[in-house]
Amino acid sequence: MFDDLKGKRVLITGSTQGIGLAAVEAFARAGAKVAMNGRRTPADLEATLARLNGLGGEVVFLQADVSDSAACGTLVEAFVERFGGIDVLINNAGGLVARKPLPEIDDAFFDAVTDLNSRSALMVTKHALPHLKAAAAQNGTTSSVISVGSVAGYTGGGPGAGLYGAAKAWLHNIQKNWVAFHTKDGIRFNMVSPGTFDTAFHADKDEDTKARIGSGFPMGRFGRPEECAPTFLFFASHACSGYITGQVLDVNGGQYMP
Ligand code: NAD
Repeated sequence: MFDDLKGKRVLITGSTQGIGLAAVEAFARAGAKVAMNGRRTPADLEATLARLNGLGGEVVFLQADVSDSAACGTLVEAFVERFGGIDVLINNAGGLVARKPLPEIDDAFFDAVTDLNSRSALMVTKHALPHLKAAAAQNGTTSSVISVGSVAGYTGGGPGAGLYGAAKAWLHNIQKNWVAFHTKDGIRFNMVSPGTFDTAFHADKDEDTKARIGSGFPMGRFGRPEECAPTFLFFASHACSGYITGQVLDVNGGQYMP
């Protein structure tokens, strides 16, 4: 179904675990050339790469803290040096940083949350843009930027997650500008907006709490990272979504219906 992803060059930020790692695995199975990125080098990197490289594609690890703008440029450069260009960028790195209600928010926390969730996607996309444009021109189809939003981008976020929700809403919004001004470059921009997925993001909750929260969703449970991964393949594949741009696909088990 995703045959056109074979050999595609895919950069996925924040992908050493959780939703990002499931995406790396899915693209590797589709035969793509993938860079897994993390702020730190995982302790089990060698074994992880050996496993991922047995799936049918080619996977490398590129360390970079994408909340640092200079590192975003260096990451893109390193990727292009390795694979010769970029066909697909997935802006997945993100997180709460911490839970802080309004009275506790200071400048440092504001910067940390927005740098990780908003600035990172903007800066990596900015640096990737000429390469995505060149790839689209070369292959005569489209390149694809997929950013990871959140249900919190609609709802405003849970306790202490207001800044996080706003940073994701910012992404949902700025994509519209990118579509308006860069469709002419042959680049499509879409967003995958997860609901509540069982990853380290929810490490502050025990299993009973997760089950109780999940039972309130129409699907009755949290999502699993591998249930999000096919949506990235869909938006990356020109054959599947070549006329789809500027959209937000909600993968949330019915938790929220915008
Ligand atoms: P996770 O914490 O399991 O994974 C986050 C990944 O980002 C890790 O690989 C980590 O190394 C990486 N990362 C963190 N800071 C980084 C930095 N500065 N530079 C580079 N990499 C960095 O979380 P997850 O649940 O897999 O989240 C993935 C994305 O999905 C995030 O954007 C998150 O906001 C979003 N999301 C998650 C949920 C959920 O319920 N899990 C819900 C909505 C949205």
